[in-house]
Amino acid sequence: MANILLTTQCNRSCPYCFAKREMSSSAKDSIMSWDNLIYIADFLKASGQRHIALLGGEPTIHPECVDFILYLFERGFDVTIFTNGMLSPARLKEFKKYLTIISPEKLSFVCNLNDPVKTPASVTETERIHQFLSAMGPWTIPGFNIYQHNFTLDFLFDFINRYGMKRHMRLGITHPVPGKQSDFIHVDDMRQIIERLYSYRHHFDTFRVTPGLDCGFPICKFRDEELGWMQRLRVPSHFSCGPAFDIAPDMGLYHCFPLSNYQRKSLFEFDSMQQIDAHFAQLRDQIKAEIPGIYEECDGCRYQEDGVCNGGGICQVLNRFIGEARIRIPEIENELAKDCLPE
Ligand code: SF4
Ligand code: SF4
Repeated sequence: MANILLTTQCNRSCPYCFAKREMSSSAKDSIMSWDNLIYIADFLKASGQRHIALLGGEPTIHPECVDFILYLFERGFDVTIFTNGMLSPARLKEFKKYLTIISPEKLSFVCNLNDPVKTPASVTETERIHQFLSAMGPWTIPGFNIYQHNFTLDFLFDFINRYGMKRHMRLGITHPVPGKQSDFIHVDDMRQIIERLYSYRHHFDTFRVTPGLDCGFPICKFRDEELGWMQRLRVPSHFSCGPAFDIAPDMGLYHCFPLSNYQRKSLFEFDSMQQIDAHFAQLRDQIKAEIPGIYEECDGCRYQEDGVCNGGGICQVLNRFIGEARIRIPEIENELAKDCLPE
């Protein structure tokens, strides 16, 4: 699946943001143009894609966000928009007028929410999120990025009930940007995170909410009863890395935010999704040939041999390269050196 960045501008500053390198407020090419959007739609259509995700920055601040969404519908795509929910009153009015006539099956929002106690928003920001969820709750899935060990999910269940949101919850781990300073969950802390997540199983069961796990969770850190619970709930989970890729407003193409500078390409260099998939698969294979995964045990792991887990995220794997005395593949060393340059 492709993620399209409508803009690299954002109206919020989250402590764990792993997209910071891509964010800019002034660059001329920081917003997606109509020409580029149409090119992308043609490209994805020709590759048989039916679903598009719109990201930012904050995609809803793109001046033509609503027209873009309606255009993508006309082209036959289902659209998911990742937002922080802090829409201006004028933009929200447009959403209510033009988007509430679209079925929640075809249009959905993932509203990435921060814990109101641990990462408080301003009064205005809180009010805007409330207004957004009051209007668009039935179209919206709450999203949460885990960046602290003692995270809580109670407020998300509260939001789901209060705003009639979709009974699903997108849960992501915050990942490192190799060579950069950012808050992220270390691979040694995965077990602690999973335990805490599992401690909410009664909430998920009682409120009939299904969790969905984003990329980079290592299957070996789940206990049998936890995997059984997830299987029973049919939890969509990625014990892998890289099912999607990102297309920036300047048509830059990369694996994902943490790797936005790593072997970055342009969409214009490719003729099909198959070529892009092959390019990123090769990138992952090249790195994994050096270090098979995020743990020593990844080397020869049965889950990896069976194709169930591919050794964790390559952002975490690359992070293991940083500071090594000797890196054996010059291409990887050169790419990482680029990342280590001062901003
Ligand atoms: S490949 Fe690595 S991360 Fe995946 S299950 Fe095996 S040991 Fe865990
Ligand atoms: S490198 Fe893989 S695990 Fe890390 S953020 Fe990207 S897709 Fe996710």
